[in-house]
Amino acid sequence: MATAADLDRETSYRVPQGFFTSGLSEVDPAVEDGIRAELHREQTQIELIASENIVSRAVLEAQGSVLTNKYAEGYPGRRYYQGCAPSDAVEKLAIDRAKQLFGCGFANVQPHSGAQANGAVMMALLKPGDTILGMSLAAGGHLTHGAPPAQSGKWFNAVQYGVRRDDHLVDFEEVERLAKEHRPKLIIAGGSAYPRHLDFARFRAVADDVGALLFVDMAHFAGLVAAGEHPSPFGHAHVVTTTTHKTRAVIRNAQTLANRLKERGADLVAGGTDTHLALVDLRPLGITGKDADEALERAGITCNKNGVPFDPLPPMQTSGIRVGSPAGTTRGFGETEFRDIADMVADVLEGVKGGDRAAEQAVNQRVRALCARFPIYEG
Ligand SMILES: *Cc1c(COP(=O)(O)O)cnc(C)c1O
Repeated sequence: MATAADLDRETSYRVPQGFFTSGLSEVDPAVEDGIRAELHREQTQIELIASENIVSRAVLEAQGSVLTNKYAEGYPGRRYYQGCAPSDAVEKLAIDRAKQLFGCGFANVQPHSGAQANGAVMMALLKPGDTILGMSLAAGGHLTHGAPPAQSGKWFNAVQYGVRRDDHLVDFEEVERLAKEHRPKLIIAGGSAYPRHLDFARFRAVADDVGALLFVDMAHFAGLVAAGEHPSPFGHAHVVTTTTHKTRAVIRNAQTLANRLKERGADLVAGGTDTHLALVDLRPLGITGKDADEALERAGITCNKNGVPFDPLPPMQTSGIRVGSPAGTTRGFGETEFRDIADMVADVLEGVKGGDRAAEQAVNQRVRALCARFPIYEG
Protein backbone atom coordinates (compact mmCIF):
# COMPACT_ATOMS: atom_id res chain seq x y z
CA MET A 1 0.00 0.00 0.00
CA ALA A 2 1.26 3.50 -0.83
CA THR A 3 2.26 5.58 2.13
CA ALA A 4 1.45 9.25 2.45
CA ALA A 5 5.11 9.98 1.69
CA ASP A 6 4.94 7.92 -1.57
CA LEU A 7 1.83 9.81 -2.70
CA ASP A 8 3.52 13.06 -1.87
CA ARG A 9 6.50 12.12 -3.98
CA GLU A 10 4.32 11.08 -6.94
CA THR A 11 2.18 14.19 -6.96
CA SER A 12 4.74 16.80 -6.00
CA TYR A 13 5.87 19.05 -8.83
CA ARG A 14 9.37 18.89 -10.15
CA VAL A 15 10.77 21.38 -12.63
CA PRO A 16 10.84 19.53 -15.97
CA GLN A 17 14.32 18.65 -17.06
CA GLY A 18 15.83 21.38 -19.20
CA PHE A 19 13.01 23.87 -18.54
CA PHE A 20 15.42 26.76 -17.97
CA THR A 21 18.23 25.55 -20.20
CA SER A 22 16.93 23.68 -23.28
CA GLY A 23 16.41 25.55 -26.51
CA LEU A 24 13.38 25.48 -28.78
CA SER A 25 14.93 22.98 -31.18
CA GLU A 26 15.10 20.39 -28.37
CA VAL A 27 11.76 21.19 -26.73
CA ASP A 28 9.52 21.79 -29.72
CA PRO A 29 11.12 20.91 -33.07
CA ALA A 30 7.83 21.41 -34.93
CA VAL A 31 7.64 25.08 -33.96
CA GLU A 32 11.37 25.44 -34.54
CA ASP A 33 10.83 24.12 -38.08
CA GLY A 34 8.23 26.78 -38.71
CA ILE A 35 10.54 29.55 -37.51
CA ARG A 36 13.41 28.23 -39.63
CA ALA A 37 11.16 28.10 -42.68
CA GLU A 38 10.16 31.74 -42.07
CA LEU A 39 13.82 32.76 -41.67
CA HIS A 40 14.66 31.02 -44.95
CA ARG A 41 11.69 32.71 -46.65
CA GLU A 42 12.76 36.16 -45.45
CA GLN A 43 16.36 35.53 -46.46
CA THR A 44 15.56 34.40 -49.99
CA GLN A 45 12.50 36.43 -51.00
CA ILE A 46 12.02 40.09 -51.87
CA GLU A 47 9.49 41.63 -49.49
CA LEU A 48 7.25 44.25 -51.08
CA ILE A 49 4.35 44.08 -48.59
CA ALA A 50 4.04 47.74 -47.65
CA SER A 51 3.10 47.13 -44.00
CA GLU A 52 5.97 44.74 -43.26
CA ASN A 53 9.57 45.45 -42.37
CA ILE A 54 12.67 43.68 -41.07
CA VAL A 55 13.68 44.35 -37.45
CA SER A 56 17.21 44.50 -36.12
CA ARG A 57 18.77 41.74 -34.08
CA ALA A 58 18.44 43.99 -31.02
CA VAL A 59 14.67 44.29 -31.50
CA LEU A 60 14.39 40.51 -31.84
CA GLU A 61 16.26 40.18 -28.55
CA ALA A 62 13.98 42.66 -26.74
CA GLN A 63 10.86 40.98 -28.17
CA GLY A 64 11.89 37.55 -26.88
CA SER A 65 12.86 38.74 -23.41
CA VAL A 66 11.77 38.04 -19.81
CA LEU A 67 9.42 41.03 -20.00
CA THR A 68 7.00 38.45 -21.42
CA ASN A 69 6.67 37.01 -17.87
CA LYS A 70 5.35 40.19 -16.27
CA TYR A 71 1.84 41.53 -15.91
CA ALA A 72 2.11 45.30 -15.94
CA GLU A 73 -1.49 46.53 -16.15
CA GLY A 74 -1.97 50.22 -15.69
CA TYR A 75 0.65 52.90 -16.24
CA PRO A 76 4.16 53.55 -14.87
CA GLY A 77 3.87 54.36 -11.16
CA ARG A 78 0.21 53.24 -11.09
CA ARG A 79 0.12 49.46 -11.42
CA TYR A 80 -2.16 46.74 -10.15
CA TYR A 81 0.75 44.44 -9.34
CA GLN A 82 4.04 44.76 -7.50
CA GLY A 83 7.40 44.16 -9.16
CA CYS A 84 6.78 46.59 -12.00
CA ALA A 85 9.81 48.87 -11.56
CA PRO A 86 11.74 47.45 -14.56
CA SER A 87 8.58 47.47 -16.70
CA ASP A 88 7.92 51.05 -15.60
CA ALA A 89 11.42 52.05 -16.68
CA VAL A 90 11.01 50.51 -20.14
CA GLU A 91 7.53 51.96 -20.64
CA LYS A 92 8.71 55.43 -19.55
CA LEU A 93 11.58 55.22 -22.03
CA ALA A 94 9.11 54.38 -24.79
CA ILE A 95 6.82 57.27 -23.81
CA ASP A 96 9.68 59.78 -23.69
CA ARG A 97 11.04 58.59 -27.03
CA ALA A 98 7.62 58.81 -28.71
CA LYS A 99 7.11 62.35 -27.36
CA GLN A 100 10.53 63.44 -28.59
CA LEU A 101 10.23 61.72 -31.97
CA PHE A 102 6.88 63.24 -32.87
CA GLY A 103 7.04 66.44 -30.83
CA CYS A 104 3.82 65.65 -28.99
CA GLY A 105 2.79 66.41 -25.40
CA PHE A 106 1.50 62.99 -24.34
CA ALA A 107 2.00 59.42 -25.45
CA ASN A 108 0.56 56.06 -24.49
CA VAL A 109 2.82 53.23 -25.67
CA GLN A 110 1.63 49.64 -25.35
CA PRO A 111 3.10 46.36 -26.65
CA HIS A 112 -0.07 45.62 -28.61
CA SER A 113 -1.16 46.40 -32.15
CA GLY A 114 -2.51 49.25 -34.23
CA ALA A 115 -5.97 47.71 -34.34
CA GLN A 116 -6.08 47.63 -30.54
CA ALA A 117 -4.85 51.21 -30.32
CA ASN A 118 -7.69 52.31 -32.59
CA GLY A 119 -10.17 50.30 -30.51
CA ALA A 120 -8.87 52.00 -27.36
CA VAL A 121 -9.32 55.47 -28.87
CA MET A 122 -12.87 54.70 -29.93
CA MET A 123 -13.80 53.15 -26.58
CA ALA A 124 -12.40 56.22 -24.80
CA LEU A 125 -14.11 58.83 -26.95
CA LEU A 126 -17.35 57.17 -28.10
CA LYS A 127 -20.31 55.15 -26.96
CA PRO A 128 -21.62 52.19 -28.99
CA GLY A 129 -23.96 53.51 -31.69
CA ASP A 130 -22.21 56.87 -32.03
CA THR A 131 -21.49 58.07 -35.54
CA ILE A 132 -17.96 57.95 -36.99
CA LEU A 133 -16.71 59.06 -40.41
CA GLY A 134 -13.71 57.26 -41.92
CA MET A 135 -12.17 56.43 -45.30
CA SER A 136 -13.65 53.35 -46.96
CA LEU A 137 -11.57 50.24 -47.45
CA ALA A 138 -12.15 50.53 -51.20
CA ALA A 139 -10.53 53.98 -51.22
CA GLY A 140 -7.48 52.84 -49.21
CA GLY A 141 -8.78 53.14 -45.63
CA HIS A 142 -8.18 50.57 -42.88
CA LEU A 143 -10.62 47.92 -41.59
CA THR A 144 -10.60 49.55 -38.14
CA HIS A 145 -11.92 52.85 -39.54
CA GLY A 146 -15.52 51.64 -39.72
CA ALA A 147 -15.50 48.90 -42.39
CA PRO A 148 -18.70 46.80 -42.15
CA PRO A 149 -17.00 43.44 -41.31
CA ALA A 150 -14.87 44.98 -38.51
CA GLN A 151 -15.73 45.70 -34.89
CA SER A 152 -15.61 49.46 -35.60
CA GLY A 153 -18.22 48.98 -38.34
CA LYS A 154 -20.53 46.96 -36.11
CA TRP A 155 -20.34 48.87 -32.83
CA PHE A 156 -20.62 52.35 -34.32
CA ASN A 157 -22.78 54.02 -36.93
CA ALA A 158 -19.98 54.11 -39.47
CA VAL A 159 -20.21 56.45 -42.43
CA GLN A 160 -17.47 56.17 -45.06
CA TYR A 161 -15.94 58.67 -47.47
CA GLY A 162 -14.02 57.80 -50.63
CA VAL A 163 -11.74 59.24 -53.27
CA ARG A 164 -12.51 61.10 -56.48
CA ARG A 165 -12.86 59.05 -59.66
CA ASP A 166 -10.55 61.25 -61.74
CA ASP A 167 -7.46 61.68 -59.52
CA HIS A 168 -8.01 59.16 -56.66
CA LEU A 169 -7.47 61.88 -54.04
CA VAL A 170 -9.69 62.26 -50.94
CA ASP A 171 -12.99 63.76 -52.02
CA PHE A 172 -13.24 66.65 -49.55
CA GLU A 173 -16.57 67.78 -50.97
CA GLU A 174 -17.92 64.38 -50.02
CA VAL A 175 -16.22 64.51 -46.60
CA GLU A 176 -17.83 67.90 -45.91
CA ARG A 177 -21.24 66.81 -47.18
CA LEU A 178 -21.23 63.58 -45.12
CA ALA A 179 -20.00 65.42 -42.02
CA LYS A 180 -22.82 67.99 -42.24
CA GLU A 181 -25.42 65.33 -42.96
CA HIS A 182 -24.43 62.75 -40.32
CA ARG A 183 -22.77 64.97 -37.63
CA PRO A 184 -20.12 62.36 -36.62
CA LYS A 185 -18.49 62.54 -33.17
CA LEU A 186 -15.21 61.35 -34.66
CA ILE A 187 -13.63 61.86 -38.08
CA ILE A 188 -10.81 59.45 -38.99
CA ALA A 189 -8.00 60.23 -41.44
CA GLY A 190 -5.30 57.76 -42.47
CA GLY A 191 -5.20 54.54 -44.43
CA SER A 192 -3.38 51.42 -45.51
CA ALA A 193 -3.36 51.79 -49.28
CA TYR A 194 -3.48 55.53 -49.88
CA PRO A 195 -0.27 56.60 -51.62
CA ARG A 196 -0.54 60.40 -51.31
CA HIS A 197 -0.28 62.97 -48.51
CA LEU A 198 -3.44 63.75 -46.54
CA ASP A 199 -4.48 67.36 -45.88
CA PHE A 200 -4.73 67.26 -42.08
CA ALA A 201 -5.57 70.96 -41.74
CA ARG A 202 -8.53 70.54 -44.06
CA PHE A 203 -9.75 67.49 -42.12
CA ARG A 204 -9.49 69.52 -38.91
CA ALA A 205 -11.52 72.36 -40.43
CA VAL A 206 -14.30 69.92 -41.35
CA ALA A 207 -14.19 68.43 -37.84
CA ASP A 208 -14.38 71.87 -36.20
CA ASP A 209 -17.27 72.81 -38.46
CA VAL A 210 -19.46 69.98 -37.17
CA GLY A 211 -18.08 69.72 -33.61
CA ALA A 212 -16.31 66.40 -34.25
CA LEU A 213 -12.95 65.21 -32.92
CA LEU A 214 -10.23 64.48 -35.49
CA PHE A 215 -8.41 61.18 -35.14
CA VAL A 216 -5.41 60.47 -37.40
CA ASP A 217 -4.17 56.88 -37.74
CA MET A 218 -0.63 57.29 -39.10
CA ALA A 219 0.38 53.61 -38.82
CA HIS A 220 1.55 53.48 -42.41
CA PHE A 221 3.54 56.69 -42.65
CA ALA A 222 4.66 57.29 -39.03
CA GLY A 223 8.31 56.63 -39.86
CA LEU A 224 8.13 59.28 -42.58
CA VAL A 225 6.63 61.77 -40.10
CA ALA A 226 9.41 60.99 -37.61
CA ALA A 227 12.00 61.57 -40.31
CA GLY A 228 10.37 64.85 -41.39
CA GLU A 229 9.59 63.39 -44.83
CA HIS A 230 5.81 63.66 -44.50
CA PRO A 231 3.48 66.35 -43.05
CA SER A 232 2.81 65.73 -39.37
CA PRO A 233 -0.72 65.27 -38.05
CA PHE A 234 0.32 66.76 -34.69
CA GLY A 235 -1.09 70.22 -34.24
CA HIS A 236 -4.13 69.20 -36.29
CA ALA A 237 -5.46 65.96 -34.83
CA HIS A 238 -6.98 65.58 -31.35
CA VAL A 239 -5.66 62.01 -31.18
CA VAL A 240 -3.06 60.17 -33.25
CA THR A 241 -2.38 56.42 -33.26
CA THR A 242 0.41 54.46 -34.90
CA THR A 243 2.28 51.20 -35.04
CA THR A 244 6.08 51.38 -34.92
CA HIS A 245 7.34 49.07 -37.61
CA LYS A 246 5.89 49.97 -40.97
CA THR A 247 8.14 52.73 -42.40
CA ARG A 248 11.55 54.47 -42.58
CA ALA A 249 13.20 56.92 -45.09
CA VAL A 250 11.98 55.01 -48.13
CA ILE A 251 10.13 57.40 -50.41
CA ARG A 252 12.63 57.60 -53.25
CA ASN A 253 12.84 53.83 -53.47
CA ALA A 254 9.04 53.53 -53.64
CA GLN A 255 8.92 56.16 -56.37
CA THR A 256 11.63 54.37 -58.37
CA LEU A 257 9.72 51.09 -58.07
CA ALA A 258 6.39 52.70 -58.99
CA ASN A 259 7.70 54.74 -61.91
CA ARG A 260 9.43 51.76 -63.50
CA LEU A 261 6.25 49.67 -63.15
CA LYS A 262 4.42 52.46 -64.92
CA GLU A 263 7.02 52.47 -67.72
CA ARG A 264 6.38 48.74 -68.04
CA GLY A 265 2.67 49.29 -68.65
CA ALA A 266 0.89 49.34 -65.28
CA ASP A 267 -1.27 52.24 -64.05
CA LEU A 268 -0.54 53.91 -60.71
CA VAL A 269 -3.48 54.82 -58.49
CA ALA A 270 -3.46 58.59 -57.81
CA GLY A 271 -0.77 58.87 -60.48
CA GLY A 272 2.12 57.91 -58.19
CA THR A 273 3.23 58.11 -54.58
CA ASP A 274 4.34 60.59 -51.88
CA THR A 275 5.01 57.79 -49.41
CA HIS A 276 6.54 54.33 -49.04
CA LEU A 277 3.84 52.53 -50.99
CA ALA A 278 2.27 52.47 -54.43
CA LEU A 279 -1.00 50.99 -55.52
CA VAL A 280 -0.61 49.41 -58.95
CA ASP A 281 -3.65 49.08 -61.18
CA LEU A 282 -3.13 45.98 -63.31
CA ARG A 283 -6.06 46.44 -65.66
CA PRO A 284 -3.88 47.74 -68.54
CA LEU A 285 -1.93 44.47 -68.27
CA GLY A 286 -5.11 42.40 -68.33
CA ILE A 287 -4.51 40.40 -65.12
CA THR A 288 -6.06 40.35 -61.63
CA GLY A 289 -4.43 41.13 -58.30
CA LYS A 290 -4.98 37.54 -57.21
CA ASP A 291 -3.21 36.02 -60.22
CA ALA A 292 -0.44 38.58 -59.86
CA ASP A 293 0.35 38.13 -56.16
CA GLU A 294 0.29 34.33 -56.47
CA ALA A 295 2.63 34.33 -59.49
CA LEU A 296 4.95 36.80 -57.78
CA GLU A 297 5.16 34.61 -54.68
CA ARG A 298 6.15 31.66 -56.86
CA ALA A 299 8.92 33.87 -58.23
CA GLY A 300 10.04 34.80 -54.70
CA ILE A 301 8.52 38.28 -54.47
CA THR A 302 5.82 38.83 -51.84
CA CYS A 303 3.21 41.57 -52.07
CA ASN A 304 -0.55 41.67 -51.60
CA LYS A 305 -3.49 41.94 -53.94
CA ASN A 306 -5.36 45.15 -53.23
CA GLY A 307 -8.55 46.72 -54.48
CA VAL A 308 -8.15 49.96 -56.47
CA PRO A 309 -10.67 52.82 -56.16
CA PHE A 310 -13.96 51.89 -57.87
CA ASP A 311 -12.64 48.37 -58.37
CA PRO A 312 -15.08 46.27 -60.40
CA LEU A 313 -13.62 43.04 -58.97
CA PRO A 314 -14.40 41.56 -55.50
CA PRO A 315 -11.87 41.78 -52.60
CA MET A 316 -10.63 38.20 -53.13
CA GLN A 317 -9.71 39.01 -56.77
CA THR A 318 -9.02 42.76 -57.06
CA SER A 319 -7.60 44.75 -59.98
CA GLY A 320 -4.43 45.81 -58.19
CA ILE A 321 -1.44 44.99 -56.05
CA ARG A 322 0.09 47.09 -53.27
CA VAL A 323 3.88 47.34 -53.24
CA GLY A 324 6.08 48.99 -50.63
CA SER A 325 9.74 49.78 -50.12
CA PRO A 326 10.30 49.60 -46.30
CA ALA A 327 11.57 46.04 -45.91
CA GLY A 328 13.78 46.18 -49.00
CA THR A 329 15.21 49.53 -47.93
CA THR A 330 16.00 48.16 -44.46
CA ARG A 331 17.78 45.28 -46.15
CA GLY A 332 19.97 47.73 -48.08
CA PHE A 333 18.32 47.92 -51.51
CA GLY A 334 18.74 51.30 -53.23
CA GLU A 335 17.27 52.82 -56.36
CA THR A 336 19.22 50.51 -58.71
CA GLU A 337 17.88 47.44 -56.93
CA PHE A 338 14.29 48.76 -56.82
CA ARG A 339 14.39 49.46 -60.56
CA ASP A 340 15.56 45.86 -61.11
CA ILE A 341 12.79 44.61 -58.83
CA ALA A 342 10.20 46.54 -60.85
CA ASP A 343 11.50 44.79 -63.98
CA MET A 344 11.32 41.41 -62.24
CA VAL A 345 7.71 42.14 -61.21
CA ALA A 346 6.82 43.26 -64.74
CA ASP A 347 8.46 40.17 -66.29
CA VAL A 348 6.42 37.88 -64.01
CA LEU A 349 3.20 39.77 -64.79
CA GLU A 350 3.85 39.55 -68.53
CA GLY A 351 4.50 35.84 -68.02
CA VAL A 352 1.11 35.43 -66.33
CA LYS A 353 -0.57 37.19 -69.23
CA GLY A 354 1.17 34.96 -71.77
CA GLY A 355 0.68 31.74 -69.73
CA ASP A 356 4.48 31.44 -69.46
CA ARG A 357 5.61 29.83 -66.20
CA ALA A 358 9.28 29.95 -67.27
CA ALA A 359 9.34 33.69 -66.53
CA GLU A 360 8.66 32.94 -62.84
CA GLN A 361 11.59 30.56 -62.65
CA ALA A 362 13.94 32.94 -64.43
CA VAL A 363 12.93 35.77 -62.10
CA ASN A 364 13.37 33.53 -59.07
CA GLN A 365 17.04 33.06 -60.03
CA ARG A 366 17.44 36.85 -60.10
CA VAL A 367 15.60 37.22 -56.76
CA ARG A 368 17.90 34.71 -55.09
CA ALA A 369 21.00 36.36 -56.50
CA LEU A 370 19.86 39.78 -55.27
CA CYS A 371 18.94 38.45 -51.81
CA ALA A 372 22.32 36.75 -51.54
CA ARG A 373 24.01 40.12 -52.17
CA PHE A 374 22.01 41.69 -49.29
CA PRO A 375 21.98 38.97 -46.59
CA ILE A 376 19.86 39.22 -43.42
CA TYR A 377 20.28 37.47 -40.04
CA GLU A 378 23.51 35.72 -40.96
CA GLY A 379 24.52 33.11 -38.38
C1 LIG B 1 -1.54 48.17 -39.98
C2 LIG B 1 -2.59 49.17 -39.64
C3 LIG B 1 -3.36 49.06 -38.48
C4 LIG B 1 -3.34 47.84 -37.64
O1 LIG B 1 -2.15 47.55 -37.07
P1 LIG B 1 -1.93 46.07 -36.47
O2 LIG B 1 -0.70 46.24 -35.67
O3 LIG B 1 -1.81 45.17 -37.65
O4 LIG B 1 -3.14 45.78 -35.64
C5 LIG B 1 -4.20 50.08 -38.17
N1 LIG B 1 -4.33 51.16 -38.96
C6 LIG B 1 -3.64 51.28 -40.11
C7 LIG B 1 -3.81 52.50 -40.96
C8 LIG B 1 -2.76 50.29 -40.49
O5 LIG B 1 -2.10 50.38 -41.64
